[in-house]
Amino acid sequence: MVKTRVVLMPQYMGKFQCIGSKCEDNCCYGWKVNIDNKTYKKYRKSNESSLKFLLNLNIKRNRSNASPENYAKIKMKQNGDCPFLEEDKLCKIHKELGPEFLSKVCRIYPKFTNIVNEVYEESATLSCPEMARLVLLNRDIMEFDELEESADIDNNIMRQININDIRYSNKVKKYFWELRIFIITLLQNRKYSITNRLIILGLFLKKLQECVNSEKIKIVPSIIQEYNNIIESGDLEKYLDSIPVNLSIQMELMKEFNDHRFSTGFSQNARPYINCVTEFLSGIEYTDKAKIEDIVKLYGEAYLNIYEPFMKDHEYILENLLVNYVFNQLFPIESKWGVFDDYMRLVIYYSLIKMLLIGMSAYNEKLDERLIIRLVYSFSRAVEHNNVFFNNTFELFKQNGYNTMAYMAILIKN
Ligand code: SF4
Repeated sequence: MVKTRVVLMPQYMGKFQCIGSKCEDNCCYGWKVNIDNKTYKKYRKSNESSLKFLLNLNIKRNRSNASPENYAKIKMKQNGDCPFLEEDKLCKIHKELGPEFLSKVCRIYPKFTNIVNEVYEESATLSCPEMARLVLLNRDIMEFDELEESADIDNNIMRQININDIRYSNKVKKYFWELRIFIITLLQNRKYSITNRLIILGLFLKKLQECVNSEKIKIVPSIIQEYNNIIESGDLEKYLDSIPVNLSIQMELMKEFNDHRFSTGFSQNARPYINCVTEFLSGIEYTDKAKIEDIVKLYGEAYLNIYEPFMKDHEYILENLLVNYVFNQLFPIESKWGVFDDYMRLVIYYSLIKMLLIGMSAYNEKLDERLIIRLVYSFSRAVEHNNVFFNNTFELFKQNGYNTMAYMAILIKN
C-alpha cells in the first residue's frame, strides 16, 4: 500500500506549472545549485553522449561539509548563468534526459514545505514570477486545502515545529493555531483598508508581546476575543484615521535600507532588483544632492496620482502578499525574536515593497500588475533569499530606536 501524508496548502499551489521558455526571466542564474547524491549517481551512469562531456565539466563534488542533499554542485558560468540553460531558456538536462534527472533543488523550486506537528504545509517563494502571479493576482480570498499525497514526493523542508511539545506549554507557540486564524482573518477583513488591518495587527501583537513579557500566556485567548470584538465594533476607526502621515521619515528609512543593501553588495540573481531600485530612485529624483522636501513632494504626488488610484481596486494584491507571508513564515511565532519583532519584519517587508512601487510608478508613469510582479519577484530574489541581509537591516532599525508602534504606523501609512 502506498504510504500517504496530510498536506495543507493554499489553493494556488495546485495551479502552478513552470512556463519555461515563456517566462520573462528564468530561475537558472545567480544561485548556488546543489546536486543531491542520488541525482549525482544518475549523472555518472548516464550514457547520453552529448551531455556526458558537459556533466563531467560542470558538476563538481562538494569536498567540504557534503551531505546527501549537497553532495555536489553545478559550476555556474562567470556571469552566474547555469551552463545547462539553452538559448530557448530551457534546461538541457530536462530536455535530453527528462525531469527525473533534475536535481532535487531544481525539481522542487519554487515550492517549499514547513511541517507543523505532523502536517506538511506546502507553499512557495515569490522569486518565481509565475508563482508570484498565481499568489498575488487572485481577487478572491486566499483559501487553503487539506489533501493527502504520497509520502514519497520529494520536498524542501524549511521549518519544522511541534506545537504540542511539552516545552511550549507555557509559551505563546501553544496558541499557534488560534493566532494564525485570528491574523489571517484580520488580514482578509475587507471592511478595513490594508493600512488599517496592518495597524490593528500591530496593536494586537504589541499587547500580545506585553502578555509574553509578563508571562501571562493563559490570557492569549481572551486578548484574541477582545480584539475580535473591537474589530467587529469598528470602534478603532477614529483612532486609525487620526494617525499622522510622515513621508519624510518613510524616505529616510528607505534611504537607510538602500544604503545598507547596496553596501553589502549583490549576487547575480539581484540583477532585476537593481533595475527596480534604479527606477525608484529616478522616479522620485532621489540623488545625494536632492533636497528631502523635493523628493518627498514627488513621492507624495506619485502616491496620490498613480499608486492610490490603482490600489483602491487592487488591494487584494497586498492582502495576498501579507497572507502568504503569514502562512509560509509560520508568523508570528516561529522565530527566535519576539512577536512584536516579527511584526516589525513583516512591516519592513510590506513597506519596502510599497515605497519601491510608488517610486517605480512615478518613473513608469503608471502602475499595473506587470510592474508589481516584476518588483515582487525581483525583491524576493535579492532580499528574501538573503537572510543575513534582512537580519542586519532589522537590527539596524532596532539600534536606531525604530522598533515602536509609532514608527511602524509611519512606515505603513501614506
Ligand atoms: S522562474 Fe518559475 S516560471 Fe520561470 S523558469 Fe523558473 S520555475 Fe519556471
